[in-house]
Amino acid sequence: MGEHKIHTLQVHMFPCLEDNYGYLVHDPETGYTAAIDTPEVEPIERALREKGWKLSHILNTHHHFDHAGGNLELKDKTGCVIIGAVADAKRIPGIDIRLGNNDVYLFGKHEMKVFDTPGHTSGHCVYYFEDSGIVFVGDTLFSLGCGRLFEGTAEQMWTSIQKLLDLPDSTKVYCAHEYTQANAEFALSVEPGNADLCKRAVEIDKLRAAHQPTIPTSIGLERKTNPFMRPDSEHLRETIGLIDASNEEVFAETRQRKDRF
Ligand code: ZN
Ligand code: FE
Repeated sequence: MGEHKIHTLQVHMFPCLEDNYGYLVHDPETGYTAAIDTPEVEPIERALREKGWKLSHILNTHHHFDHAGGNLELKDKTGCVIIGAVADAKRIPGIDIRLGNNDVYLFGKHEMKVFDTPGHTSGHCVYYFEDSGIVFVGDTLFSLGCGRLFEGTAEQMWTSIQKLLDLPDSTKVYCAHEYTQANAEFALSVEPGNADLCKRAVEIDKLRAAHQPTIPTSIGLERKTNPFMRPDSEHLRETIGLIDASNEEVFAETRQRKDRF
């Protein structure tokens, strides 16, 4: 009967710390439940209790404390398996499984693909569940923004972001922070005439006024509105005075302007 049907993974999101999001991904078939990063133990435990789910995995995007700080306590309490990028293995507390770029891990029957996305940190990665159309991007991409370049170069980050641009427009994007409203101000400053962006900014203000999340976003929406995914935009290029530059140069200049904004 239903044995050939792959059930879509369920995602539960909840706030952690100041402006982080915690996420649980649940496979109803196997009961597998993964926490995407571990910003804060208590809200993750509360979410697990509320949903009646048992933690089986932690999927770390990178080593920063607001992403891996709860690893050891949660592993100690649940015996869960910790997965992270081989590139960052030394800095991921309690790591059990080290995955490389394009590696596929079976989460129940769901293929989970890992892409290395260095830039914010040198060992950052993202987790893509193609059959459910969802990607967890940590601090690589935000709605209308991208991560700060702490350890990587603009060239690396632009290469990382292109991996996300390759995903289908319908892909739901779950990022690690609610930075969208502040990001919108910057995005509007470099592309004031982008109609899709103006529309999104209005929607963001409404959501935030009602204390609602602006996440998930989608690859398609970010492609149309996020300046860090649009270095080929004529309008953006005109605003920052780089008409004939390469996409990488436009990306780098946009990132620098955001740092100073
Ligand atoms: Zn970070
Ligand atoms: Fe972070």
